[in-house]
Order: sequence, then structure tokens, then C-alpha cells
Amino acid sequence: MSKKLSIGEGDVLVVVDVQNDFCPGGLLAVPGGDAVVPLVNRLAEQFPHVVLTQDWHPPGHLSFASMHPGRRPYETITASYGPQVLWPDHCVQGSPGAAFRSDLDIPRAELIIRKGFRREIDSYSAFYENDHATPTGLTGYLRQRGLARVFLAGLALDFCVRYSAEDAHRDGFAVIVIEDACRGIDVDDSVTAARHSLAALETAVVTSDAVM
Ligand SMILES: [Zn+2]
Repeated sequence: MSKKLSIGEGDVLVVVDVQNDFCPGGLLAVPGGDAVVPLVNRLAEQFPHVVLTQDWHPPGHLSFASMHPGRRPYETITASYGPQVLWPDHCVQGSPGAAFRSDLDIPRAELIIRKGFRREIDSYSAFYENDHATPTGLTGYLRQRGLARVFLAGLALDFCVRYSAEDAHRDGFAVIVIEDACRGIDVDDSVTAARHSLAALETAVVTSDAVM
């Protein structure tokens, strides 16, 4: 059980990539990904502000293993900006897999950040693309709206949630990961690596009972 936190006007819940392709039956399914949806729906009701993110790739995106002859999904290549894991084709713009889960029910969400739309660069984080330099605009949006504490939930813990937490911390936001509202893909122990990274950042990791 986590210590109860009081949620106020400066808090925002960022719901990461709760899309069909990241859930069972999707093209890049995160085990148990669909199980977070009812919890995320209830969490969203506790927050004055909610932002959704949506992985949103053009066809032929650099992160797709299918674009690299001889390479297979989950191998790592060296992209111009550093290591890049290759994935099955997923979340292609306008495809059913890129849509939010139909049971995701957060009509109050104030912003949808789409990311990964540049063909030559992937974007795990809600804040910066994988070069750690190209902004998505979310930092500016949150700052201008006076939102200082970022709560994270969604998919996947060890990639998009992890990198979002790291970037939010780097940009000076207080960051809290709601761990039971996330699920991991776990490529080469990436869940363990994510836990270590979050612990090193002094990012708070809580369970949903801390906010409900
Ligand atoms: Zn992607």
C-alpha cells in the first residue's frame, strides 16, 4: 500500500499509449495491457487534468523491423541518434491498431499528444523523441498551464512510461509512476532496468491506492 497523496490543481495524469496494438490481439501486445484500462479510467476521475498520448507512426517507420532486411523484431540497431529496438509494425496512423482502446473512457482528457510521426526517429517518451532533443511540446504545454506534478500510467512501463518519467524529471517536473496502472513488454530484462532507472531518479513509484 502506498501513502495517500492529495491530488490538486497542479497535478496532471498522463495516460501513455493505451492503444489496441499494445493490448492482447494487437500487433505489439504488452502482456496484460488491456488489464490497465478499467483502473486507468477510474484514476482519471481523480485528476483535475488528464493528457493522453498516442503512438502514431507513418507506414515504413524506422522502428519497424520490416524496414531492415535481415533484422527481426526486438533486435537493436544503431540509429543516427543511438540504439533503437526494432518492433513489429504497429500503431500505423489511422489504422485500427493505432486507435485508443474502445473501453478507454476518459472524455475529460484535455490534450492528446501524438508521437513517433517522423519516419526517421522513434519517440517513446511523451516529452522528447528518441534523440532526447526533439520536443513533442508537452513540456511547454504543462508549464504554460501551471501543471507541475506529472503522474504516469499506461503502456509500456519499460519503454514509453519509463522514458516519459525520465524526461519529465529532467525538465523539472515532480514525477510519480502509478505502477499497477502500467504493464511492461520486458525485452532483455527491460522491466528491471526501468525499475532501477526510476529508483535512481528518485521518481516516486506508487500504487493506485495512493490516489484513490
Ligand atoms: Zn511505436
